[in-house]
Amino acid sequence: MSHFTASFAAQFAPVRVRFGVGIRRQVSEEIARLGCKRALVLSTPPQASQAMEMAQDIGDLAVGVFTRATMHTPVAVTEEAVAHALAVRADCLVAVGGGSTTGLGKAIALRTDLPQIVVPTTYAGSEATNILGQTDNGIKTTLTDARVQPEVILYDAELVRSLPVGLTVTSALNAMAHAAEGLYARDRNPVSTLLAIEGLEAFAEALERVVAAPDDLEARGRTLYGAWLCGTVLGQVGMALHHKLCHTLGGSFDLPHAETHAVMLPHTIAFNARAAARELAPVGRIFGMDAPGRALHAFAHKLGAPMALRDLGLNQTDLDKAAEIATSKPYWNPQPVTKEDIATLLAAAWRGDPPAF
Ligand code: NAD
Repeated sequence: MSHFTASFAAQFAPVRVRFGVGIRRQVSEEIARLGCKRALVLSTPPQASQAMEMAQDIGDLAVGVFTRATMHTPVAVTEEAVAHALAVRADCLVAVGGGSTTGLGKAIALRTDLPQIVVPTTYAGSEATNILGQTDNGIKTTLTDARVQPEVILYDAELVRSLPVGLTVTSALNAMAHAAEGLYARDRNPVSTLLAIEGLEAFAEALERVVAAPDDLEARGRTLYGAWLCGTVLGQVGMALHHKLCHTLGGSFDLPHAETHAVMLPHTIAFNARAAARELAPVGRIFGMDAPGRALHAFAHKLGAPMALRDLGLNQTDLDKAAEIATSKPYWNPQPVTKEDIATLLAAAWRGDPPAF
């Protein structure tokens, strides 16, 4: 069935994307292709060895390594990294890592306009968007700016192979959330819908295989393909209830990013399926059950994903406050949002029950 609609707007960023096992070894070529000669390599502390390896591989084209990227992109860390980039006269950035490292690269690019090459090691999808979330004095704000859109992405299945199985599953569900919400986005277009469906299918086909055999590079490659497509959807269209709720839970209660997305996805999709049944029908088809929320719940359960907010450290006494914060500012959502409904939704997610709606 075609996804054509008589009127729509779509915008595509000029991003160069390459896939392939071992493609990370072609970063030097990409640096030269950008007309650059002095790359600064970025990572989180746990991935410092991957950054060092990358710098070694790049050889003379690497002028430094900054390994202090951290969750939520604190401005203080960005300022240190910008100072480092200026000190070594970097003319481009190479981010090796997940959303935290990509976030740091984007934050440096926002301030310096340096071009970015991203070599993702999770499925978060940040590399495919022009969105940047930053934290200053504990407050996270999000902006959209063409300068933060990475110019080159190299997807290498060998790099996600080291992602632990638990993080593999939650990171994949994080990516799938972009596509699921993209299906009913108010500003969706036929191509974003196509990308969302293809992205969800890639995870449906390959994620179980990755969990069973984390070294299966073909399956890892397919899940990276899903991450790219789902991330591209996130970069194209606006998100709604699911992302707002996860933002609230992460920002106000310090819950972990990917795990929170994983727990919340079946609940938010079930809630919105009442108003967007037609748009969400592909989710039910792809995951093998009529009700899309239940289908995602069964899929997540089968993969051993965390199922309850209480297991992520949220106190039951915080549920009311979370519902209050999540509904304090109005935003568009296919199903109208009330504090009572969100409290019911959150209570089911807290206990780890099947979706309440
Ligand atoms: P992350 O980058 O923080 O990675 C989680 C942990 O896993 C880190 O310690 C990291 O070093 C480690 N890790 C990553 N890849 C690994 C690998 N292959 N092997 C072993 N360890 C590995 O987490 P994430 O979930 O990728 O990203 C989350 C962040 O990204 C959040 O801050 C979120 O807001 C942001 N994000 C932004 C966008 C956007 O478009 N701006 C989109 C999605 C996520």
